[in-house]
Amino acid sequence: MALFVVLLGPPGAGKGTQAKLLAQSFDLPHVSSGDLFRDHLKRETRLGLLAKDYMDRGGLVPDNVTVDMVIDRLSQPVCQKGAILDGFPRTLSQALALDEAMEERGEQVDLAPLIQVSDDEVVKRLTARRSCRSCGAVYHLLFNPPRVEGVCDVCGGPLYQRDDDNPETVRNRLYTYYKETSPLIGYYCAKGVLREVDGERSIDDIQVDLHAVIEAL
Ligand code: ADP
Ligand code: ADP
Ligand code: ZN
Repeated sequence: MALFVVLLGPPGAGKGTQAKLLAQSFDLPHVSSGDLFRDHLKRETRLGLLAKDYMDRGGLVPDNVTVDMVIDRLSQPVCQKGAILDGFPRTLSQALALDEAMEERGEQVDLAPLIQVSDDEVVKRLTARRSCRSCGAVYHLLFNPPRVEGVCDVCGGPLYQRDDDNPETVRNRLYTYYKETSPLIGYYCAKGVLREVDGERSIDDIQVDLHAVIEAL
């Protein structure tokens, strides 16, 4: 049986960090819409250049292109056994499109864990986040530093600060989260798949909770 997990939570909650760990232990692909957009941007595709404008401002890329990009990834053979989704869906319309695509293949979103953190914590986490240019691994200057400054533990690639991890864009992203994405909490709660997890603890403790939630399925 396939397993589709949608990680919910504000920007900086730790969705990417937790998704990578879950993907490893459950041997499922990590599907991050933000990573997919950044990959397009790196390759300078039309989609990447279009997305950049929205990303720089902390708004959302339009639903139609976002949905096509993610559903296309989910329909690839690697996602046959399921996926850990991170950053998608981010609007009700995306959630409906995802449900429709799942239904067509006789699947559903099995779980939607909500990683809860305060706005203050979001700002602290995002303004000192560092990401690997080569493999996308994520670090924090204080909370989760790499072994060697500026160098990725996983692949040795160079670390950089994302353009959108500046205080002004972070505020816009939080606003966008409350306005567009937080309605998904009610949506998944009504479907009986929402699970709330306290995100203001260590990365390991949160991972343990997420495992418990998945294993309880
Ligand atoms: P999201 O994908 O939700 O935006 P990330 O996984 O990129 O979040 O994490 C945001 C930042 O917070 C990163 O710098 C990451 O290293 C750090 N971080 C993630 N989880 C924790 C945690 N439990 N405690 C402290 N910092 C964390
Ligand atoms: P975060 O670390 O804040 O969770 P992401 O890497 O998930 O950030 O997303 C970065 C940016 O990419 C978002 O601010 C938004 O502009 C765009 N984006 C990512 N996922 C989506 C989506 N599902 N719908 C629309 N825009 C998205
Ligand atoms: Zn790396």
